[in-house]
Amino acid sequence: MAEYRCTWWEYTGGYSEFKEGVASPIMRNLETDDEVISRDLPIGALWIAEGDGYPKGPDGLAICCRLHGHHTWFIDGRASDCTMPDDKEHRCWVRHGIGGETIHVDKDGNTCAAGAGSIATTGFHGFLHHGVLRDC
Ligand SMILES: [Zn+2]
Repeated sequence: MAEYRCTWWEYTGGYSEFKEGVASPIMRNLETDDEVISRDLPIGALWIAEGDGYPKGPDGLAICCRLHGHHTWFIDGRASDCTMPDDKEHRCWVRHGIGGETIHVDKDGNTCAAGAGSIATTGFHGFLHHGVLRDC
């Protein structure tokens, strides 16, 4: 069983040099002040997406979590197997906690019948419970 303690990161406003035509935003760890480009965030990294067009929770925050293979989980987004795709109010994952806090994700709230609050991507299937990403 693998466990990844979640860490909070924020945008510094800085960008890396262009590499293959792309400049990556530089992120800072709120605990340690370490800085990395967004692509290199560790598994379990949490941050708030900035800008329009990202799926947001009822509190207006779009919280993201880094998974395996550089995959980004939009916790406030829509699950691919959502059973209520036409309903805009519910959340497929119910997030508890805001920026900088311990995040817990489950199905305790206005939600659909998709899954049990877990996240699945290539190489990982698990839960984010009490600030720890854990496979199952
Ligand atoms: Zn849903």
